[in-house]
Parts: sequence; C-alpha cells; structure tokens
Amino acid sequence: MGTMPTTTTSEVPQTHAAEAGESSASGKAALGSVRSDWTRAEVEAIYRTALPELLFRAQTVHRAHHAADRVQTCQLISIKTGGCPEDCAYCPQSAHYQAGVEREGLLEPQQVFEVAREAAGRGVTRFCMGAAWRDAPEGGEFEKVLEMVRGVSALRMEVCCTLGMLTERQAERLKEAGLTAYNHNLDTSPEFYGSIITTRVYDDRLKTLAAVRKAGITVCCGGILGMGEREADRIGLLHQLAALEPHPESVPINMLVRVEGTPLAAMRPLDPLEMVRAVATARILMPSSRVRLAAGRKQLSPEAVTLCFLAGANSIFVGDKLLTTPNPGPDEDELLLQSLGMKPLEPHAV
Ligand code: SF4
Repeated sequence: MGTMPTTTTSEVPQTHAAEAGESSASGKAALGSVRSDWTRAEVEAIYRTALPELLFRAQTVHRAHHAADRVQTCQLISIKTGGCPEDCAYCPQSAHYQAGVEREGLLEPQQVFEVAREAAGRGVTRFCMGAAWRDAPEGGEFEKVLEMVRGVSALRMEVCCTLGMLTERQAERLKEAGLTAYNHNLDTSPEFYGSIITTRVYDDRLKTLAAVRKAGITVCCGGILGMGEREADRIGLLHQLAALEPHPESVPINMLVRVEGTPLAAMRPLDPLEMVRAVATARILMPSSRVRLAAGRKQLSPEAVTLCFLAGANSIFVGDKLLTTPNPGPDEDELLLQSLGMKPLEPHAV
C-alpha cells in the first residue's frame, strides 16, 4: 500500500524546539538526532521503557521536529482490486483466500481523478493509490497508472502509489510523472516474515525500496502489528525501519484487520498499548519521519488514538475504506481532531 515533499527537520519552525525547552542545534541533537545506527538492544530498551517515560520522551522528540497539533490527512484508494498472486496472510485481496473481495480491473484515470478532486476539496493533502499486483505491470496498464499520477499531482496533493515490486526504470518513470512517494511495507521482522508471506522474501522488499530511493522518490514503509508476532518481532521490525538510510519519510503503522476468510481471521486482538509503544518507539528512532496510523484504526478507541498522537503519530487515513477494509468516516475523524484541538495539515504545507 501507501506525498507532498519529504518531511524534513528544516520544515519545522525553530519555535517547536524552543517550546520543548531546548535551543537550536544542541537541543535538537538531545531531542532525537537522526541516526540509522541504532542497535537492536537500544531499540528493545526504548520499546520496553515504562509507558509514561516512553510517552514523555516520544512527545519531546516529536515537538523538536514537528508541529504538535498538526495531523496530515491522507486518502487511499484501491485502483486494482483482488486476485493478487501473493499469499500475504493478512490480506483479503490475495487470490489464495476466499475473503469475499470482488476482483476489479484497473480503474480508469477519470474515475480516480473524481475521487482525488473530492478528497482535495475536503483538505486531504496526500492521495495514495494501491493496486493488488505482485509486480507493477509493463505496457498499457502502467501507462494508465502514470496518467493517474500526473493527474493527481496536478491537484497539488502528495501522490503515493503501492503497486508491488518495481524495476528501476518503472521507478524512474513514476518519478518523472510526479510521484512523491512509493509505499512498500516491510510488514514485520525478518524472522517472522516467512510465517506471514511465502511467495516473496524480505530481500525482494529491500530491492524495490532501493530502486525507489535511486529514482529520487520518497519512501513510505512500515508494518502491521497484531499478526501473532512476538514483542521481539515488533522490535525487530522497528529496528529494520530505523536502519534504513535515509529513514523512510513516511512510516505507516497498521493494526491487523482480522478479515474472515484470511488465515489470520481468528487472531487474538492486539493490546492497543502495543500500538502506542510501537508508535512512540518509531517516533524516537525516526524523529523527522511522518508516522501514520493506517489500517485497523477502527479497532482503536478515541482514547487509544489520542495516546498514539501523544506518542508522535502525525497522520491518519481518512475515508470510509482503506483499500478493502473499513475505516472511520470523515465526520468521526473531524470530530476527534476537533475535540483534541488538533488540525489537519494545511494544503499549502504540502
Ligand atoms: S502483495 Fe499486497 S495485494 Fe497482494 S496479497 Fe500481499 S498485501 Fe495483498
């Protein structure tokens, strides 16, 4: 699955560091300098910090790098649905499972533009297009995707795609068309990966991420929690993400949506505080990245979402659906942000 320009520390007014009681460069270093050499033991120690301390530390880092009251709203649309040859155990779009998802061929660019215009009108600043492919195809279908990217980019939103594995040439062409970001999740730790997906290996993911970087496209890369992994796997995933150099500009943290018909349908629900811990750890490890609450938000109470914001999440997906799974409606999100006194990122900030 999964832009306006990269979120960099330079976008952050100095006042945020000052608000956190720190001054300029030395303060910023103390409040989470950007590094990719975290050890697994360091990540583990952060993840296991007592929750009040963890939240305090994450919030302090967050304020040094981001406006504390701003949340970017993104919208994700499925441009090609179902029938995917991969066997990701969490995914209702896999052809390996009977999850009741109707297959749908590639949408026409005009259909996509209609949804994108409506989203832009609601203040959405990042528009993501997902296609259930193992590899991005060549030929007519790829040309249509390029047309979609050009059209959405013209609406002055960040444009993100997730189309499966990419070649370097495809990545270059997407960049030329105006693509801001490419989403390609690592999903979980390298150790647990084989329990979730058998049709590709971790290294395939890393190769596509390298092609995306080489083309100058920003990276959106995160994972899914609650798939039956151990705490050590959540720590392992966060370590992998933080070891990428540079860090992914966008880090979506998903909570498993247990869909009937998929192998993970009966998985026990994840303790929402694990989401909070993962978000806080991601914020501390990757201070300047945008940490996004992605799939599974409907399973979190407003209080749990609020804790995730405190932990440093600064983006949500809006719209009734995330590809094929349910998501809180726009009114619900607007009410939550209003009640917290938080505001969507303004389009001009894109
Ligand atoms: S590659 Fe994407 S669409 Fe295909 S099964 Fe995995 S998550 Fe689903």
